[in-house]
Amino acid sequence: LRPRSLRRATVPRAVAEPVAKPSSNGASPTLAGWSPESWRQRVALQQPNYPDAKRVEEAYTEIKSYPPLIFAGECRTLQDRLARAARGEAFILQGGDCAEAFTQFSANQIRDTYRVLLQMSVVLMFGGGVPVVKLGRMAGQFAKPRSADLEEKDGVSLPSYRGDIINGPEFTTEARVPDPFRLVRAYNQSAATLNLLRGFSTGGYAGLTRIAQWNLDFMQNSDEGKAYMDLARRVDEAIQFMGACGLDANQPIMKETEFFTSHECLLLDYEEALTRLDSTTGLWYDCSAHFLWCGERTRQLDGAHVEFMRGIQNPIGVKVSDKMDPSKLVSLIASLNPDNVPGRLAVIVRMGAAKLREKFPAMIEAVDEAGQIVTWVCDPMHGNTESCNGFKTRRYENVRAEVEAFFDVHDSMGSVPGGVHLEMTGDNVTECIGGGSAVSADDLNSRYHTHCDPRLNAEQSLEMAFYVASRLRQ
Ligand code: PEP
Ligand code: MN
Repeated sequence: LRPRSLRRATVPRAVAEPVAKPSSNGASPTLAGWSPESWRQRVALQQPNYPDAKRVEEAYTEIKSYPPLIFAGECRTLQDRLARAARGEAFILQGGDCAEAFTQFSANQIRDTYRVLLQMSVVLMFGGGVPVVKLGRMAGQFAKPRSADLEEKDGVSLPSYRGDIINGPEFTTEARVPDPFRLVRAYNQSAATLNLLRGFSTGGYAGLTRIAQWNLDFMQNSDEGKAYMDLARRVDEAIQFMGACGLDANQPIMKETEFFTSHECLLLDYEEALTRLDSTTGLWYDCSAHFLWCGERTRQLDGAHVEFMRGIQNPIGVKVSDKMDPSKLVSLIASLNPDNVPGRLAVIVRMGAAKLREKFPAMIEAVDEAGQIVTWVCDPMHGNTESCNGFKTRRYENVRAEVEAFFDVHDSMGSVPGGVHLEMTGDNVTECIGGGSAVSADDLNSRYHTHCDPRLNAEQSLEMAFYVASRLRQ
């Protein structure tokens, strides 16, 4: 295997400066015709049919008057981190619920998912030897695209559940009516979640001297829990040694960590209402999260989502399945990152191991040929969904096989694996089958809590981190 530094990075020689001088409406010259509402001239898929336009206007106006959830400067920091990941100098760990829910909202739930993400990042840093960019699918991951507009059950047909920001999951006529004031509740829940995440990140909880205390109770006796504790002890020893050498454990780098938020940019009324002009740069940022991605179902080149996303200056992502043609991918990248800014765009591939081995090399080749800079991220969840005993599930072995294929393809192409994107939780759920903890098909009905797609539980997530670390070390 070639060492990382000798890999042919998908980074072209001449690197464009970040967007040039803004014009009077705050848009860069490459953003001709763009405004926060220009998406309204295009076809917007996956939007709810609200029964009352006046109430939509009221909810929109209310959110528009609220403060931004994030600050544009944080987005620029994240973009710098993602550019490092594109060069193989950092690795992205993006994870959280498929869909956050109003009814599953508590400090403990937020803390447990955050804690597993911290544990995983320690495994990747210590085991894989790279800085880890922590990006939660948290504090705003509410809207869900659906394959079908209607859901059938026992001969009854109702509009599909589209995430708590739109309608309710209960299978009743009332719950499924889209309610625009759910936007306001989602904003408030996001603000409260983000507040706690910021507190954990800078208030001492995430300090490197606390690594051994992050292990979850129910993990203590599992293989993953033990492997983690073993690693934590080695980190403690290293910190003690560095302390003896004179390292000051009170420095911010020892006590704080960077943590960013992300969600799918799907519900465009909400995203537009939170899009604000940054007074520092005069550019538009979608202040609902640090990072937004465009889903597999809404990434049409001439569609409303691509139109909206091309203009916001946050770092962004786009999901790509095997259905994507390499030359179309190049056009889409050109549209979303016309100035070829490093770290601006992550391409999140999700197609299952077999298709990834078959189709992904041609995509890397085409993007490389075009001289485009992207951060390649592996989502091993969405190409591996299956149905079992009436539950939507995923097999750990298939998820792992896709991550394996992702690293293998990059090894053979000399390109850079930039990160992983996981649906996961710190809860002890039984939603995905397999892994060392051996959740079986019969266990699915025991603790199946997700409102949408099945998530890796804490043990499965940690097991995945150990696998990724082993690949980063090679
Ligand atoms: C998701 O991330 O939950 C999702 C719906 O993904 P995709 O757009 O890749 O299907
Ligand atoms: Mn999902």
